[in-house]
Amino acid sequence: MLEVENLHTYYGPSHILHGVSLSVPEGKVVALLGRNGAGKTTTLRSIIGLTPPRRGHVRFRGEDITGARPHRLARLGLSYMPETRGIFPSLSVEENLTLVAGRREGRWTLERVYELFPRLRERRRNGGAQLSGGEQQMLAIARALLLNPEVLLLDEPTEGLAPIVVRDIRERLAFVKEAGMTVLLVEQNFRFATQLADHLYVLGKGAVQWSGTPAEIEAEPGVLHTWLGV
Ligand code: ATP
Repeated sequence: MLEVENLHTYYGPSHILHGVSLSVPEGKVVALLGRNGAGKTTTLRSIIGLTPPRRGHVRFRGEDITGARPHRLARLGLSYMPETRGIFPSLSVEENLTLVAGRREGRWTLERVYELFPRLRERRRNGGAQLSGGEQQMLAIARALLLNPEVLLLDEPTEGLAPIVVRDIRERLAFVKEAGMTVLLVEQNFRFATQLADHLYVLGKGAVQWSGTPAEIEAEPGVLHTWLGV
């Protein structure tokens, strides 16, 4: 569904990605792992057109979308949840949601995302700024789903959350996966990623250092130690 081939991305003169290639098959969850600064966020930004790559290609259903603008990609069916979550703190939960609802037709409606996150329904009149970190994260995921994407790109959905909230988010995302969503997930939380993903890519120094299944990585102490610090 999404093919990334030999991406080279720069911030000004700094060469950040050195030929990243990866593949996200339809209906699968693919996780990008790696330490701080490995290039995970830059890979997502390169795919979504926020930091277009200088070399390499991004293909979505066979169409070359390299460097296309984010709004065009949203129309095509790529939905990006940034690490900063991108919600509007001055708007209520429901206003944050209705702002994006209905832009693309599909399974995910306001009612369905409230079923997925009952907590958001309870808090629907609350302002974005009044939410806990976990609730903000749920709101950000709910917004991304309401765009009814064909591929959901999530940047560190567990960042800064307590373990019990991480577990809740994992269960919600497992449900999204069961519903058939294709997901590219950036994570630092190794357990979270291996429990959700079908396939893993380990990034280090702006390149893919290892790729395989969650079962395979367990037998790779060198990879875990060198590139993930696990
Ligand atoms: P993190 O979990 O910290 O976000 P990451 O794996 O997502 O880690 P990136 O954010 O992709 O890493 O950063 C990769 C490299 O690019 C780092 O060395 C970082 O310092 C650098 N970098 C990131 N954003 C910028 C920017 N706007 N300008 C210059 N350099 C940047």
